[in-house]
Amino acid sequence: MERRSIILIALSHIVFLILGLAGAFVIYKKGKKLIIADEHHKEALKDSENRLRILNTDLQAQVLLETEKLRKAKELAEEANRAKSTFLANMSHEFRTPMNGIIGMTNLALDTLLDTEQREYLTIVKNSSKHLLDILNDVLDLSKIEAGKIELKNMDFDLITAIKTTVEPLAITARNKGLQMNVEISPDVPTALVGDVGLLRQVLVNLIGNSIKFTDKGKIELKVNMACPESDHTTDDKLQMLQFSVSDTGIGIPKEKQDIIFDTFTMLEDVTTKRFEGTGLGLAIVKKIVAMLKGEIWVESDLGKGSAFYFTAKFLKSLTTPATAQQSEKIEFKNKHILVVDSNVTTNQRIADMLKGEGFLVDTALSGYEASGKLTFSTVQYDIVILDFQLTDMDGFEFARNMKSMEKLSQVKVIMLVSAGLRGDDAQCRALGVSGYIVKPIYKSDLMDVLSMLAANWDNPEVPLLTRHKVLESRKSLNVLIVDDNVVNQTLAVKLLERHGVMPQVAGNGHEALKKLSKTSFDIVFMDVQMPEMDGIEATKLLRTADGCEINREVPVIAMTANALRGDRERYIEAGMNDYISKPLDADELYALVEKYSAYGQARLKALSSDNMSEQPIDMNRPAQRTSAISLNIEKLLKRVKNDEGIIRDMWQAFVEDAPVQTAFLKKLFEARNLGELKKQVHLIKGMSANVGATALKSEVFRMEIALSESNDMSEDETKIKTFVENIQLELDKVLKEINIYLLKPHGKMF
Ligand code: ADP
Repeated sequence: MERRSIILIALSHIVFLILGLAGAFVIYKKGKKLIIADEHHKEALKDSENRLRILNTDLQAQVLLETEKLRKAKELAEEANRAKSTFLANMSHEFRTPMNGIIGMTNLALDTLLDTEQREYLTIVKNSSKHLLDILNDVLDLSKIEAGKIELKNMDFDLITAIKTTVEPLAITARNKGLQMNVEISPDVPTALVGDVGLLRQVLVNLIGNSIKFTDKGKIELKVNMACPESDHTTDDKLQMLQFSVSDTGIGIPKEKQDIIFDTFTMLEDVTTKRFEGTGLGLAIVKKIVAMLKGEIWVESDLGKGSAFYFTAKFLKSLTTPATAQQSEKIEFKNKHILVVDSNVTTNQRIADMLKGEGFLVDTALSGYEASGKLTFSTVQYDIVILDFQLTDMDGFEFARNMKSMEKLSQVKVIMLVSAGLRGDDAQCRALGVSGYIVKPIYKSDLMDVLSMLAANWDNPEVPLLTRHKVLESRKSLNVLIVDDNVVNQTLAVKLLERHGVMPQVAGNGHEALKKLSKTSFDIVFMDVQMPEMDGIEATKLLRTADGCEINREVPVIAMTANALRGDRERYIEAGMNDYISKPLDADELYALVEKYSAYGQARLKALSSDNMSEQPIDMNRPAQRTSAISLNIEKLLKRVKNDEGIIRDMWQAFVEDAPVQTAFLKKLFEARNLGELKKQVHLIKGMSANVGATALKSEVFRMEIALSESNDMSEDETKIKTFVENIQLELDKVLKEINIYLLKPHGKMF
């Protein structure tokens, strides 16, 4: 038993042992598994760390790639935006040219005899096209700014003069609307400044223009102060932050709309009511310009009470005192007060509009009774009365006689409007103290001619009766021949002469001219020099000597040429020509020549313009030592085109595009040492610059032309010619900058 139990015990121990061993084995196995699992885990961890690292690097690369893509996309978008703006700028320029034609021709048509219906239709055409042109000009301005084509100009200017010349024409419009206009410049504001005065003017014109437009009664005020004067000491004391405010007592702007008015194409008024004209672009442009001037703009307004626009702008304090503008004489005359007295409502309004358009202060009266009331009781001191000879309630001459007999009114100048049958009534006019008369129908040019003559002889009681019509009548009988092969030149000469009352005939070359000259007797011939088939010199020689043209053997022949180099004048005289006029034609020079060579106006011979090319000193064949102070001779240019801003705009637009190309070509020709072509190119640039009034550029090019004409070997004069090319580039840059600023200004307000 014992043995059995021992065996049993032993067996149970063995079983336990086996079980224990099995358990230990299982535990061992598990432990091992765990260890293995742990290692796996570690490896997995390492792996994922690696992956993360790779992922991280990938991500970084991806982010960089995306950023780069975004940057490129942004650049592309900006480039596209600029391209869009450039395209817009070009497009609106393209549109403007025919628009000027439409407006110009409509104006000419409106200056003719029309019935009421026709006048009404044409007036609508005129107003609509003017509105369209305003939109185009605004789009052009905006797109030019967006395309980054406007460079800030730093020039010395006098703030008071700048504000005066900007506000004066606007004040006339305000006064004609019955509004008061005040300007207040705080005494602590420095007036000698440096900065872009052109852009400042554009902002002021826009804001004051809006104030006048949206105000029916009350006043407009412009104030200029220092912005935050206390902060000045912390900044550069040469830098001046000015604050301008333009306030009005007009319709006001609702609070919730005050932010959006600076967005493009925002007009709060319902356009269909057509109460106010506008494009909704003005303030958007203003905001961009103010940002260019490193300032801000904001508005405060109460609906129905008025608005105040504030803006700041930075300028430098100038160290020099700029010269003040000398426009007072012209403005003084335009400030004269005129009373138009005509019983015909349409005629009365038309004359008033013509005068207002020229900047005069105008009132109207429809009867003698109304006119007497205005002249005697109004607080306005009238300077000129334009009086119809036949009023519904009174005889015009009788009215004039009464006026002149009253002490208060005896100094008022009277211009009579008479009908054709009364044309010869000088004696009666003289006896009544009338200054002049105009024969109906009234043309704006007649009116302006008589008023200019009146202005020129304001204090001269001895001046003969001012009657433009008489002069025109006599001029009409003048027989003038224009000989030119270029249709544009022909048209310009014809139009300019027609405006002077001369009705010229035209020939396209020397042959044609001689044919005409053999048949009809002429008083004056204007002859182009360079023409195909037969040039002007040869034609004149034949006219003076050959058989067939005896009736015109002695006729004055005036050369028309852009070729006024030394020796040329002698060449023309030698060929039998009497005088010459340079192209581009200047209206006054042309008229002076007509007066000089016609039998009618010997006494009124005017000297030719002082800077005619033939009168330039001929030894000016060296480059200028320094660049010019004045790039553009605007006064002369305006005179040349008879103050037609549209013509100047068109010429300048074309110049801005073409001149850089031509100058680059000039450089290339110099680099290629191509003397022959260089001479031609210089000649071309001279003509272009003379055309656009770029006086300094023209002089430099002219000097170069002379130098080249004397040079046979470029290598000898290389340094000199190189300086010319550099100077020309410098002058061109200056001209372009100046022109671009002018072109930015709203139409009709360029000068
Ligand atoms: P536009 O005058 O050509 O319509 P603007 O951009 O100059 O365009 O002005 C946008 C709008 O802001 C105007 O149409 C007008 O409704 C409002 N506005 C601007 N100035 C004034 C003002 N002085 N008084 C009242 N409303 C104004």
